[in-house]
Amino acid sequence: MTRSFVFIGGRLLLDDSGSTPRLPTRAEVEQALGHPDLSSVRLPDGGEGRPTDLETYGLASDTPIPPGYRAEGLRTAFHALAPADFQTARRAKHLVEWVETHRFCSRCGKPTRRDTTHLSMTCTSCEQRHFPRVAPAVIVLVQRGDEALLGRSPHFAPGVYSTLAGFVEPGESLEECVHREIEEEVGVRVTNLRYWQSQPHPFPHSLMLGFVADWADGSIRIDPREIEDARWFRRDALPDLPHPMSIAHGLIQDFVRRTAPGG
Ligand SMILES: [Zn+2]
Repeated sequence: MTRSFVFIGGRLLLDDSGSTPRLPTRAEVEQALGHPDLSSVRLPDGGEGRPTDLETYGLASDTPIPPGYRAEGLRTAFHALAPADFQTARRAKHLVEWVETHRFCSRCGKPTRRDTTHLSMTCTSCEQRHFPRVAPAVIVLVQRGDEALLGRSPHFAPGVYSTLAGFVEPGESLEECVHREIEEEVGVRVTNLRYWQSQPHPFPHSLMLGFVADWADGSIRIDPREIEDARWFRRDALPDLPHPMSIAHGLIQDFVRRTAPGG
């Protein structure tokens, strides 16, 4: 059964008529939405020969949500979807966003078309290929013994603190980015940098690269343009943490495990 990943203004459409929300099929989507014009952003496959059992669409944010459905951001949909479906939804959202923002060539301004053999939007005039963008960002847990350095940005929910993060700049290595971001945001220097794990982050197209680093020297001096507070938190006195699906949450849980007494 072909499942459809339909994004309305960036939120995923879920059938909410049963006991648990689920992804609709293409036929259900067409019936519910009255045969809308889906073709302009239809991605009938995952690209590069990947399986073809999913379809993903983007619809305008003012598209009415049909009765029996709801549209959720991916953070909320995370709780409703099986892990494999969530992973696909993340990819689908990234691709929908890419198609919607690459309808015209950024080189010559003419319309593009979806390439049928490559995951690219190709210009109908100058043949320039436009591939999906992935923007690397580092996210770092800075550790000092059994304390972690966490900060909060003004748009976090009240009480939530998280690991520090920032986008990699052109010409910069991941290591350089970690040192620069930490020093800029909180004024401390770090050492003994270790790569941890990564996570695609479709908001809209970043790839978060998680690191652990040890505090080297300096005391906290925040950059108020980036964050509103940063503190050292002991492993047994942590604040509210970010969403469980986030790599930040994973980094902090890993820190708690690693620093467990006797561990
Ligand atoms: Zn062009």
